[in-house]
Amino acid sequence: MNLTKQIMIALILGVVVGIGFSFTTPELFNTIDTYVLSPVGQLFLNLIMMIVVPIVFVSIVLGTAGLGDPAKLGKIGIQTIAFYLVTTAIALLIGIGMGYLLEPGKEGVFDVDNVSYEEQAAPPIMETLVNIIPQNPIEAMSSGDMLQIIAFAIFIGIAIAMLGEKTVGIYRLFEQANDILIFIVNAIMKTAPYGAFALIASAIGNAGLDALGSMVMYMVAVILALIIHGALTYPLAIKGLGKASPLHFYKEFFPAMSVAFSTSSSSATLPIAMRVAQDKLGVRKSISSFVQPLGSTINMDGTAIMQAVATVFIAQVYAISLGFNDIVMILLTATLASIGTAGVPSVGLIMLSMVLNQIGLPVEGIALIIGVDRLLDMLRTSLNTAGDATCAYVISENEKRKEAKAAKS
Ligand code: ASP
Repeated sequence: MNLTKQIMIALILGVVVGIGFSFTTPELFNTIDTYVLSPVGQLFLNLIMMIVVPIVFVSIVLGTAGLGDPAKLGKIGIQTIAFYLVTTAIALLIGIGMGYLLEPGKEGVFDVDNVSYEEQAAPPIMETLVNIIPQNPIEAMSSGDMLQIIAFAIFIGIAIAMLGEKTVGIYRLFEQANDILIFIVNAIMKTAPYGAFALIASAIGNAGLDALGSMVMYMVAVILALIIHGALTYPLAIKGLGKASPLHFYKEFFPAMSVAFSTSSSSATLPIAMRVAQDKLGVRKSISSFVQPLGSTINMDGTAIMQAVATVFIAQVYAISLGFNDIVMILLTATLASIGTAGVPSVGLIMLSMVLNQIGLPVEGIALIIGVDRLLDMLRTSLNTAGDATCAYVISENEKRKEAKAAKS
């Protein structure tokens, strides 16, 4: 059986077993979770997290050096960032639209007298941007600060490209390191069905179904917006800009999306997402290794959708009407918030407080959605990873076409 099929079965089994736990006693679930599901899930997570930093560093150095010309990197960089910003804006509009259409926070359903939420400080965006250049690259690696690692790797890659012959030894060293890492990722991917099953069953079992209650409409709004974005925006980009097949894309990229679903972490999914994009979708290494790591930290359309729906929802619950200026403000701050969201579970919710503060909505409203956020995190992370891969795929297909055209003439 191929890996995709195995993962598909693991996903379904994980969901079924997770839901099944709500019909057993909490003690039984806790025992199974503590001694089987959590440890197996954590082992899988540790395995993939173990290689995230080396893979990002090595592949970006190689990718940048492989491009040869810093101007080319600049061009791809601009295309990537433009793609990320436009798709995030579309995601936000879909989220806001869905919030108005379904009115999940309609008056009268929610009692907000007793809700409280302890706000957690979101990192200031300007600080994140200035700190992209690390003072200490080793510290950046040990703390896994992705943007800093990316910046440092780009410097090294450009230097290797410029120095050419002189640094051929170290270039070969990076190539060999890359081979080793690819070998390890391929081995880890074989364990994905088991890891995914354990993580999903544990997450759904822990979340329970009781939390859903009055939040069903909110969940439906988020899920529909995620589906619309994934089924329309990305396919249109793949077909329109990349002249490639969206169906092929989703079929091949599915294993990476399911790892995102089970880990709720774009960062953890990165090694597998890059492998799948390069091996199955034929995305150029030099493009994938730059576009996807960058996307896993700054491009989060799924998170943006949740933040948009949540903002509209909270405004409705507190019966505060939003004007045109507020909507523009949501677009701006939620874009920044999704850029600032780290690719780890639940951070999108912390960043939501920044959006709410900016618009003057009560941050306590977050308390209402916390209970169902874990489940939605799984879905939005899958979309986050798909967005990054879509961008890499589109740019790579375009490059290939351009080169083929140039070769002909
Ligand atoms: N879990 C998401 C990710 O890693 C971030 C979030 O929305 O919380 O992409």
